[in-house]
Amino acid sequence: MHYLDHAATTPIPRAVADRMYEVLTGQFGNPSAQYPLGRQAATLTEECRSTVAAAIGCKGDSLVFTSCGTESNNWAIRSALWHGRHTGKHIITTAVEHSAVLEPLKALAQEGYEVTYLKPDSRGNITAGQVFDALRDDTALVSVMLVNNETGCVFPVEEIARGLRQRKSRALLHCDAVQGFLKVPCAPNPWGVDLMSFSAHKVGGPKGIGALYVNPSLRNLRPLLFGGGQERGLRSGTEATAQIAGFAKAVELRRENLSEKLAHVDAIKACCLEKLLTIPGMEAVSDGAAPHILCMSLPGYPSANIVTDLGEQGICISAGSACHKGKASHVITAMGLPKRTAAGVIRISFGPETTEADIDALYEALKAHQANRFPML
Ligand code: PLP
Repeated sequence: MHYLDHAATTPIPRAVADRMYEVLTGQFGNPSAQYPLGRQAATLTEECRSTVAAAIGCKGDSLVFTSCGTESNNWAIRSALWHGRHTGKHIITTAVEHSAVLEPLKALAQEGYEVTYLKPDSRGNITAGQVFDALRDDTALVSVMLVNNETGCVFPVEEIARGLRQRKSRALLHCDAVQGFLKVPCAPNPWGVDLMSFSAHKVGGPKGIGALYVNPSLRNLRPLLFGGGQERGLRSGTEATAQIAGFAKAVELRRENLSEKLAHVDAIKACCLEKLLTIPGMEAVSDGAAPHILCMSLPGYPSANIVTDLGEQGICISAGSACHKGKASHVITAMGLPKRTAAGVIRISFGPETTEADIDALYEALKAHQANRFPML
């Protein structure tokens, strides 16, 4: 198999699975329980919290575990608006956020909030200036992702945070950093971001565990889940200790020689780009700076067919969220690409495990696909 879909999810290293198994079978206590097995689970949770938090340069008490990136985004958005309820009902976001941001905002629009969607340019980029131009006195929330999951574009979150401060805006800043974590610089505390979302399964951890960074200056954040008061009352529900341990182990492993790993991924991306561009008609759709995502198009060859055809040969790539039932994704649509280009968009995404042999297999399969199919007009 040639797995080239690391932006969708990542393989789990053996050490992560082993660590989870140890916790599942041997350290299975409930962290709220008052006997040693429970206290051991509570200690484990706090150690893991510190490990994950250290990867974004903050203390454990700024990080709350959630069930996934989607929950973190939903919670961040709802709680920021509750916090800013006296500021107003205006929200600024981008038209290219993940559906885990766009869908909760759609629901909020039905509840009377007004949402401004910033459009990207034709390469998928957004500028901080667009955010500042849209800012109003009643803006309660700005939500901008760190790395776009389809194009790999890195958005200027630090500059946005600085600009909001300079303008003395009362809006809270949320950032969906699910695709940026351990791929590009990410430092919510010094940047002055209020809320930042993470997910383990994009960095070699298990699915079903995420985290939300909460700036220590934010007091009385309103929970999304109410109940037994776990996570200092911020997120009720018995802690998923095995998932948490897997998250921490994955982060620990990923951080070992991280710059070498990222340089490798970057080199693989450059090699893949160069090689695929030799295929007649192939285009680079974006120049996204994230090292792990490459967004290309083979105009005239619908991406759904490419993905299925390659999948049958054991080559896993994605049409992104890029092609839902034959329709171009909201990201590609927002970029305003010509129809044939939009229909042919594929996302190839890499990890530390990716080799040149994977790229060679992809290249050969794409050439064969082109040779064996008639192009769409
Ligand atoms: N945000 C972005 C940018 C993503 O790419 C994803 C996952 O694809 C999510 C949020 C959702 O994360 P999770 O799968 O942990 O809910």
